Amino acid sequence: MPAIHDGPVSPHFTPLPLAGNANLSALAAGTAAAPAGITAAMVAALGHAPVGACTSWGIPFDIGDVVILSGKPVPVAISPIHAPWLVFQHTSDLLPLAPRPDGIISPMSGTGRLAEHAADYVICYADGTEARVAIRRRRQLGPFDREWGENCFEAVAHHKPHPARTAGEQLQPEWGWTQSRVMPADSGPWVNWLWAWENPHPDRPIVGFRFEPVAGVVVVSAVTAGSVASLPLRWRSRLKARLTLPAGQAFRPDLDRHGLLEQIQIDLGQVILATPRPIYPNDAWPDTYNNQVPELSTAEVLVEYTAHPQACFHLGSQLIPVSAVEQAGPDGPIQPIPPAHQPVTLRVVERNTGCPVPVKLHIHGEWGEYLAPVDRHRILDPFWFEDYSVDLAHILSWEERARAHACTYIPGESLVKLPRGRVYIEVAKGFEIRPVRRVVEVTPNTREIVIEIDKVLPWREKGWVTADTHVHFLSPMSALLEGAAEGVNVVNLLASQWGELMTNVGDFDGRTTWGSKEAGGDGEHLVRVGTENRQHVLGHISLLGYRGPIIAPMTTGGPDESALGDPIEALLTEWARRCHSQDGLVVVPHFPRPRAEHAASIVGGDVDAIEMTSWEDMYSGISPYSLSDWYRYLNCGYLVPAVGGTDKMAAVTAVGTVRTYAHLDPQAEFDYDTWKQAVRGRETFVTYGPLLEFMVDGHPMGSRIAMSSRGGAVDVVWQVASVTIPMSRVDLVVNGEIRESLSVPPGTAAGHWQVKVDRSCWLALLVRGHYAGKPEIVAAHSTPVMIDVEGSRLLAAADAVTILDQIEGAIAYLDTVGTRAEDRAYKRMRLVLESAHRTLHNRMHQEGHYHDHLRP
Ligand SMILES: [Zn+2]
Ligand SMILES: [Zn+2]
Repeated sequence: MPAIHDGPVSPHFTPLPLAGNANLSALAAGTAAAPAGITAAMVAALGHAPVGACTSWGIPFDIGDVVILSGKPVPVAISPIHAPWLVFQHTSDLLPLAPRPDGIISPMSGTGRLAEHAADYVICYADGTEARVAIRRRRQLGPFDREWGENCFEAVAHHKPHPARTAGEQLQPEWGWTQSRVMPADSGPWVNWLWAWENPHPDRPIVGFRFEPVAGVVVVSAVTAGSVASLPLRWRSRLKARLTLPAGQAFRPDLDRHGLLEQIQIDLGQVILATPRPIYPNDAWPDTYNNQVPELSTAEVLVEYTAHPQACFHLGSQLIPVSAVEQAGPDGPIQPIPPAHQPVTLRVVERNTGCPVPVKLHIHGEWGEYLAPVDRHRILDPFWFEDYSVDLAHILSWEERARAHACTYIPGESLVKLPRGRVYIEVAKGFEIRPVRRVVEVTPNTREIVIEIDKVLPWREKGWVTADTHVHFLSPMSALLEGAAEGVNVVNLLASQWGELMTNVGDFDGRTTWGSKEAGGDGEHLVRVGTENRQHVLGHISLLGYRGPIIAPMTTGGPDESALGDPIEALLTEWARRCHSQDGLVVVPHFPRPRAEHAASIVGGDVDAIEMTSWEDMYSGISPYSLSDWYRYLNCGYLVPAVGGTDKMAAVTAVGTVRTYAHLDPQAEFDYDTWKQAVRGRETFVTYGPLLEFMVDGHPMGSRIAMSSRGGAVDVVWQVASVTIPMSRVDLVVNGEIRESLSVPPGTAAGHWQVKVDRSCWLALLVRGHYAGKPEIVAAHSTPVMIDVEGSRLLAAADAVTILDQIEGAIAYLDTVGTRAEDRAYKRMRLVLESAHRTLHNRMHQEGHYHDHLRP
């Protein structure tokens, strides 16, 4: 178990050893029984708990026996001490939430169980008096396994933040160069040169040499005779083979310092790449679904190599001539794969126009080998901030990233070198075009392959436009291609700051919309650079499409979003107001995390939309956790529409995995401004594939309808369709509860319901679906229609209290551990939060809801 020292020790503190009731080392070793109620997860993590003499944030702690509170009070006596401050180092066990069967959590206090009373600490004085402090979750106390965005407002984690060297500064060769995946190895402190001389008289014996200087010094280190048929220093172009490992042996991918694999090497040549062989459903290719990741063979390895014709493979001590492999010996551990040497032009055209269109493309050969266009990555890079090409390395999880489905984005036409024989092609372009999986036989005469795609769902024609509200790091032109190829009309590329790293800031000019007609584009696919402004405790806020100067600082308050030493100079709410004053759109990204200050921004009316976020995950759908949090605001009458954004930061995330559909004003022509208007108009839905229409009494999503105090019945009319994820069920959600639920066929359905309304409410459409073999998910969700019944206001007290808890937390953070800007800024920000708190608080009292006051 570690003793933590995060730096030197301040002389202003004296550790107070506790005579606790438990010994963490003994618990971790299993020599003491775990107390009742402690979870297995906490027991498993005990080995990582700090013990012994520790330093945290420069404060010394002596961690011997600890106090584990579980059920009954634990008195602990200490030697008398005077202390103006006591610093507690404590944590708590996990306390999972209990969602309903549909995943919705209510009341919603988040996984951090914000403001929940966990314990009382009573400080006993010599004169018999006591001080009692309530210890609340996410205020003074967090869990041992901290989740992102669930920080404490008044406490900090036990290791202080610190600066770090970039990988480039730490590594040799540097980070950037390693992405070329090649080391020429032709320089260093000493270089000898190899020169091969072809003897014109091979039949004559050689008996010696004479080396004669003419000018300068020459060092001849060695001479070797060879018997090869051609220049031994010239390797041929790339070839592929398939290696079957000996039974029971697993593939070992690590390279030694000479760049060599352990299990397969080549003498007169080099292994370029060896990977476990992807196994695709080739026989059922046209019938299987888009993006489905391959299985990985445990026995077979794809080997790509470049070598002299007389080179040999070395498998341990076994030598196999490459020529024997290339001539396809029927037995043996290595078999050839047809080389990809034939240049073929691939064109993807729209059926009705015949025009080439940008698409997402995947091609593999008979043995699962990925076949990239000549100007695209052959080996994809899945890592954060290493996404410079226009690729998609689709994965099921980061742990399984070796099992990636490799794709790229092309502008409609591309040159690919293909092998003879069958190749397996996948083409897709968003949610309105039927994805294609096609098998093509490549013959010596194949020069061109044309794939036709078909637009089958007319949502764009009905005035809907799509958007990804949240993409990072791509260049604007790469974002334009990826957006067009994914059928996303608007890509919002967000500049931001990450510690000392600034990204896309040079692409921000507060003016240009790439792809617009004014900028020389077709006006159908647009990219606009905005900013994501971030604070690790208070939260993140996306500022889209604003004009004028960049809204900076883009991060505040120190790590892990901001640089060390940055004070809290601006609130999310203030950033939002600046964005509005610059005609931008304010979105709370990856809603609801971090769960903190955006509560104040929503209550204050400073938020245009909340964002459902996918990251790299195509299969988990819209999270009931995010919905639970959104429903709280709807239940309190805040009609904030939902948008979809990916937060793409690497090639593992596809632009538009989850996306926004927003309905344009029928009079308006599509451009970036009319898209902003559409989101402000709130007629939106969020989707992973299914498209929908939803009306309540003829009013579109995002409408507010007034009704007399008598109430009445409303007509709910809907329609759904999907060409990607198969649909299974449609739910009508009323005030967060499922009111109607209907099983639907996978492709298309429509219906209507009569709903009785006797009090204020909101109604939304939720579409479920799943890919074959995957669990059912929330695949699409509409923004609701809200009905205000006279005399009945939407204000759910339990939800309002949890919203107030968040605002109170944000205030506590400013008051306590948040790094202070100058006093004026601090007071200004406090006032903003106080005012939001008061607004909701007053509403509650007007409605006669009484509740515990955590703070005045
Ligand atoms: Zn963020
Ligand atoms: Zn982001």
